[in-house]
Amino acid sequence: TPILAVVGRPNVGKSTLVNRIIGRREAVVEDRPGVTRDRVSYDANWNGRAFTVVDTGGWDPEAEGLAERISAQAEVAVTLADAVLFVVDATVGITDTDEAVVKVLRKSGRPVVLAANKVDDQRTEAEAYGLWNLGLGEPFPVSALHGRGSGDLLDAVLAALPDTPPESFQPVGGPRRIAIIGRPNVGKSSLLNKLAGEERVVVDDASGTTVDPVDELVELGGKTWKFIDTAGIRKRVKTASGHEYYASLRTTTAIERAEVTVLVIDGSQSISEQDMRIIQVVRDSGRALVICFNKWDLVDDERRYYLEREYERELVQVQWAPRINVTARTGWHIDRLVPAIDKALEGWETRISTGQLNSFLGRLVAEHPHPVRGGRQPRILFGTQAQTSPPTFALFTSAKLDAGYERFIERRLREEFGFVGTPIALQVRPRE
Ligand code: GDP
Repeated sequence: TPILAVVGRPNVGKSTLVNRIIGRREAVVEDRPGVTRDRVSYDANWNGRAFTVVDTGGWDPEAEGLAERISAQAEVAVTLADAVLFVVDATVGITDTDEAVVKVLRKSGRPVVLAANKVDDQRTEAEAYGLWNLGLGEPFPVSALHGRGSGDLLDAVLAALPDTPPESFQPVGGPRRIAIIGRPNVGKSSLLNKLAGEERVVVDDASGTTVDPVDELVELGGKTWKFIDTAGIRKRVKTASGHEYYASLRTTTAIERAEVTVLVIDGSQSISEQDMRIIQVVRDSGRALVICFNKWDLVDDERRYYLEREYERELVQVQWAPRINVTARTGWHIDRLVPAIDKALEGWETRISTGQLNSFLGRLVAEHPHPVRGGRQPRILFGTQAQTSPPTFALFTSAKLDAGYERFIERRLREEFGFVGTPIALQVRPRE
């Protein structure tokens, strides 16, 4: 959902206005020194359109003077918001601090809606007109306390917000794209044949889907899937350095064209250097991933015990990927592949609302605060999911976070929202 940041000096009535906008009596907790407010963002809805309201009042930037503090807030607000609601106290008029904020807002080029608050009756309405001098366009006279004028203000806010967040993922459409990868002789071709049923390769001309000659459309579980670069799997392509082949350009290209990769590993053998290189490529690609251990018919109990240990050790970088054990030769358990792929794609495309994310972050920080470093404690001010495919989270913080704490956040995000089969990216944006 698009994000609206509310900016303004203390005591202009920001919090009251935020409560008015979200249509709740839910108290925006008073910010006491030393107490981190657990929520700064709220899900709002007006005329059927959902958006997220971020109250910058709770950020408590560490800048020195009031003007610096408020402009620092405004700066963070414009980096993350799609539009800004700038609240001015009409009964006070324009102050130097307001002017400082205007500078930041102008430079950002973000749409700004100007609220002239504390216009409680007709008589005080004239005071709002003075705010034209800010050069931000029409001031909307409003009484956050009584609700007067808030409908017109919200209409203006909706008009300023984009229909969809600019960073939202645009699915390409058409069949889902799968790349089967892995080093030679692990059973990729056998797996593909079993899945496709040799003859049952569907080429769908009617749907207008152009199929790359190296790709195949296959119907599985009632859906059509596009397998990427199957020519490279079915035919042994001889290269000078045949061994490097699958970890090379062709694999990388296949992964890039795919949404989800199925990494096939020979369960009867130890994980090799080449497997590790391929895992690295997949991990860096940001694609959804399912790991398929093939040749399970050759794995006995003793070997299995040994392999479990090995996998724990070697696959730690992709431990979030679902693992399934199959025997491609007989088709044993290959019916588990499609549900795993579905699940991975679901996680890959999940979007968490800004409100949900911040209430989660609030709870996480309350239970496990970041360790104090050099007398100071880095704080998470606000988070938003910047992207899907893979889920990418932007975290605005007061200072850099420890790497261990970032891993902790990722782990908790996975537990909370059930991300399976997808990498997660954290973009930490410290204020200092
Ligand atoms: P690719 O190079 O990864 O495509 O591997 P292939 O599909 O050509 O398989 C390589 C070899 O492993 C062939 O001899 C297959 O018959 C054998 N193979 C494939 N899957 C299995 C399996 O599940 N169990 C066993 N025992 N052998 C398999």
